[in-house]
Amino acid sequence: MESLRELYKVGMGPSSSHTIGPQKAAEIIKSKYEGKRVEVTLYSSLALTGVGHGTDRVIKRVLGEDTKIHFDIETKVNHPNTLKFYIYENDKIIKTHTYVSVGGGSIIEEETGEKVKIENIYPYSKFNDIKKYIIENNMTLPEYVFKFEDKDIKKYLLDIYKTMVNSIENGLKKDGVLPGGLNVKRKAKSIYNLAREESTSEREKRLIAAYSYAAAEENASGGVIVTAPTCGASGIVPASIYYLNEKYHLSDEMIVEMLAVAGLIGNIVKENASISGAYAGCQSEVGTACSMAAAMIAYFKGMSLEQIEAAAEIAMEHHLGLTCDPVKGLVQIPCIERNAVATLRAFDAALIASLPIYPEKLSFDSVVKTMFETGRDINSKYRETSQGGLAKIDIKE
Ligand code: SF4
Repeated sequence: MESLRELYKVGMGPSSSHTIGPQKAAEIIKSKYEGKRVEVTLYSSLALTGVGHGTDRVIKRVLGEDTKIHFDIETKVNHPNTLKFYIYENDKIIKTHTYVSVGGGSIIEEETGEKVKIENIYPYSKFNDIKKYIIENNMTLPEYVFKFEDKDIKKYLLDIYKTMVNSIENGLKKDGVLPGGLNVKRKAKSIYNLAREESTSEREKRLIAAYSYAAAEENASGGVIVTAPTCGASGIVPASIYYLNEKYHLSDEMIVEMLAVAGLIGNIVKENASISGAYAGCQSEVGTACSMAAAMIAYFKGMSLEQIEAAAEIAMEHHLGLTCDPVKGLVQIPCIERNAVATLRAFDAALIASLPIYPEKLSFDSVVKTMFETGRDINSKYRETSQGGLAKIDIKE
């Protein structure tokens, strides 16, 4: 399992697999072939929703505005987020490189099958093995993370938290319409103002929703966010921890520990299944983020290891089958609202896991495996291609 630095990345929205990953691939090509003419083919999901997500724009930003981009929805590829670079010299192709954007901004070069710049640093990647190890060694989940990460990881996580805070606070200040042509109004600021006027228990839920909308709207407008674990799901962990910090004034140490727990859960899904909506549906993005947040909330509440696992499991279990069908290929409908619903659900999952009627019958590992199998069975129309589901219905003006 890779470092949490590979999971939590600072980047520009709206889509880690469709913008951050392709940007990284284009930067590698640029560094290898500076000055050469490059053409790019986007396949499958990248071809179908790349324009909405801005894939073509980020590639042109790196390789030059005159870079020719082809959209190929016919050729069968192993992974829906595949892109191929053709490097030219004197009008002849001298080299090609094919990359797969596997989710969360990570890429793999297909020819070598190797992940780019990645090192596995953890000895265990299943929750059950980690649980056994930390019980035997009398450790906590964050201690497991800090044992295998480098010495600067706490500072890294604190910086990640600051970016999360900025994404929320920037989003709360803005009005107007999100870019892309859907005419979706920003709602975070209005929800926040409504929450502040509210004196009932609704206030807390409205605040949580406002924070989630704020980060997700920043993502949708191409703002700076943290992949947690992806751009599309970047409102859930930040909103949860921002809300808890506002209410309980968390210490830096607690913030870092909570992000370590959430990151570990996200890493387990990334390693054993997928965090790519194009590969396994929205259950793998928003479902994973909800599990990360639920485990983190459970840790903050001082719940047992079994209860933390149950919180993550419940959060994922009730996202099984969730499709990815963004309208117009933009990360707006259903994505922004879905972030808010999943954030509220993360608090509910932690609450249910804390009830004395548990332990849960299902393990987190088993639900992750089920999520992956379900994701592969979901018709490709519902996996970030905008060819079915919500993406095909009429939208009210
Ligand atoms: S529907 Fe879910 S997975 Fe698909 S783009 Fe939106 S947030 Fe990402």
